[in-house]
Amino acid sequence: MKQNKIKKVVIAGGGTAGWMAAAAISKLLGKNLDISLVESDQIATVGVGEATIPALQTFHKLLGIKEPHFMAATQATFKLGIEFKRWKDTQSSYIHSFGAVGKDCWAAGFQHFWRRGVDLGVNHDYGDYCLELEAAKQNKFAHPNSGNIFYAYHLDATLYAKYLRKFSETFGVKRIKGKIVEVKTHLHNDYIKSLVLESGQEVEGDLFIDCTGFIGLLIEQTLQTGYEDWSHWLPCDSAVAVQTAATQAPIPYTRSTAHAAGWQWRIPLQHRVGNGLVYCSKHISDEEAKQTLLNNIEGELLTEPRVIKYRTGQRLKHWNKNCVALGLASGFIEPLESTSIHLIQRGILRLLFLFPSNGINDTDVAEYNQQTKAEIEHIRDFIILHYHVNQRNDSRFWRYCANMSIPETLAHRISLFKKSSRFYPKDDELFGEYSWVQVMLGQGIEPEGYHPIVDMMSEDELHHFLKNIRSSVQQALASMPQHTDYIQQYCKAP
Ligand code: FAD
Repeated sequence: MKQNKIKKVVIAGGGTAGWMAAAAISKLLGKNLDISLVESDQIATVGVGEATIPALQTFHKLLGIKEPHFMAATQATFKLGIEFKRWKDTQSSYIHSFGAVGKDCWAAGFQHFWRRGVDLGVNHDYGDYCLELEAAKQNKFAHPNSGNIFYAYHLDATLYAKYLRKFSETFGVKRIKGKIVEVKTHLHNDYIKSLVLESGQEVEGDLFIDCTGFIGLLIEQTLQTGYEDWSHWLPCDSAVAVQTAATQAPIPYTRSTAHAAGWQWRIPLQHRVGNGLVYCSKHISDEEAKQTLLNNIEGELLTEPRVIKYRTGQRLKHWNKNCVALGLASGFIEPLESTSIHLIQRGILRLLFLFPSNGINDTDVAEYNQQTKAEIEHIRDFIILHYHVNQRNDSRFWRYCANMSIPETLAHRISLFKKSSRFYPKDDELFGEYSWVQVMLGQGIEPEGYHPIVDMMSEDELHHFLKNIRSSVQQALASMPQHTDYIQQYCKAP
């Protein structure tokens, strides 16, 4: 299957996905392309999606976006990780931070050393050996003078789309306002030919990027690509979201609090807080979910609570014919680890790597789909881990999650870790060893053994080794300013 050269790129939809795609394609490949974006005032964006992961920094660097400007424009705060309250049981909490934990050696990750420490009576959590996690707990943040700190952002989704729109327009993206009422296809190959707007205007293109949200106007309504449903593993299918005024200085982490049939997010921005409850409609009604959320938030309501329905899973093909789906149009995994914006970014970069300037061919399309699928399935397994490994036993929902069958790949990882503290990341996997270990320990897995190389250290040596790491974390923390003070002096409009 071959097509003519790609000259005209049409992006359908102007939410986070649409404007991220417009910004990146126009800046990085735009000189020889004609790029337009169609969006409609009559159809609102999803309006959530405000917590990110560290890789967004890479995206911004590629685009030449300056961090203080972007943070000022989107009222962003720094994010060092996510606190999971009441996930393991109804009492405890833990933080999954973005940072490195302790020190590894060639044969064994730090958890092996920590695990032997537990046997020797060292009464410190795995997270006590991580700078980012300790900084989060103390509400601190700073860019270090040397070394690295791993962080992401909380941002205002509406302001982010506006910011990227301005950026994209300076690189020549044409914004077309109007509701798409028809998608025309070529008779000979079913490729998309044009988008017909309510005004009668017809927008023709060679390559179409479907960013129309859950409806998937091009990829599904037109091309009928099909959907792989994961709700048996991730049974939550609804969310209710509300914005509130801030009642305290923003903390540098997202909070996720488990409830009887789902969980609540709290995302602190500079000017307000984003809140929501993700829930399973088989176990709790929309009205009960709304009440649960309203009973568990602070501060004046800035918006009315809004219910959003979804189906967890992915399109059978993310790229089908001359249409690439990004964002909610391509599928959805709940925002427990803030992965959707990241997947948009990955989809855009993958498309740029495989950009079909000389025409679309099946091999490139297959490569794109295979890479995307593998990436999403890794993330899916990581999210299922949070639900499945729980000791809550206080509701039907949590009992279902603990007893459900899980993907073979995940079952193997859990079993390996339980036996021997071992974990093997796969190439290109988003969440690495530190992330998996933090969540597996946090959810209550207690590894039985550790790698024999740890026994090469005497007991005294191990005590010293662990103590030195804790001391260096505390030393680095001592000079770190409070998160809010840092934001105030750092985030500046151009
Ligand atoms: P949308 O925001 O829905 O935008 C769709 C666009 O298509 C709009 O501009 C609309 O006008 C346009 N459109 C639709 N139909 C037509 C038509 N007929 N004609 C013209 N235009 C049309 N992600 C994260 O990374 N972190 C999070 O913390 C996070 N939290 C989330 C919480 C919830 C409850 C949900 C549901 C999602 C969350 N996400 C999160 C995902 C994130 O919100 C999305 O990935 C992101 O906002 C991208 O959305 P989108 O651009 O694909 O779709």
